[in-house]
Amino acid sequence: MKILISNDDGYQAPGIVALHDALKSLADVEVVAPEQNNSAKSNALTLHSPLYVHRAANGFRYVNGTPADCVHIALTGLLGYRPDLVVSGINNGANMGDDTIYSGTVGAAMEGYLFGIPALAFSQVDKGWSELQAAAETARGIVQQMLAHLSSGGAPWLLNVNIPNRPLDQLKPVRICRLGRRHVAEPVITQQSPRGETMYWIGGAGPAKDDAEGTDFHAAAQGHVAMTPLKVDLSDHDRMVYWAQTATQLWRGGGDRA
Ligand code: MN
Repeated sequence: MKILISNDDGYQAPGIVALHDALKSLADVEVVAPEQNNSAKSNALTLHSPLYVHRAANGFRYVNGTPADCVHIALTGLLGYRPDLVVSGINNGANMGDDTIYSGTVGAAMEGYLFGIPALAFSQVDKGWSELQAAAETARGIVQQMLAHLSSGGAPWLLNVNIPNRPLDQLKPVRICRLGRRHVAEPVITQQSPRGETMYWIGGAGPAKDDAEGTDFHAAAQGHVAMTPLKVDLSDHDRMVYWAQTATQLWRGGGDRA
């Protein structure tokens, strides 16, 4: 079995070092990760500047690009083989609810998934790397189970996992969840630059808005490892009929007269 590891916090982040250490006895693992912190870069690809790959002393390869760049170039030429699994993380902080839209951790995993490879994204709920070893052990257990599950074949999958910062013996079992929702983000923060210009800093994500039972927020708050199966289709399937009726009214007869 071959595993490609990436992240969005950069190749030197404690989370990816711990993840690599935890997974290297399970499979052949290779790290291709961003040189710099690329949190909140989602699935962005770098199209208008060249990408360079370097190898660090510990064997990790790092790229002057985004998480999705890393996985993309790994899968389209750099590795020279097709990994069985793409694993991203462990992220410094939660990726729950709407975070998944922005997350580079999820973006790296999603890039693998878009190439038809099963993928997992791991995040610790709280920033600061407390109980990182427990999170890495948890990730190892999940990857081990999912590698065994791979042999049964089937369509690729994309799993988003958030691990509470707790010692192993205080972590509750994996719970399958839907995504919750957050409030709108905090206001933008402004400062004066030394040259007198106004600088704008993107504010933090809002608190949980929908953290009802069944959500990732709820499960993680209870101490469970929160696992959400994701898909990429953004179509609003629930309102297809509504929009078809609305379109009929708006364009008086639909496509034939639009
Ligand atoms: Mn990050």
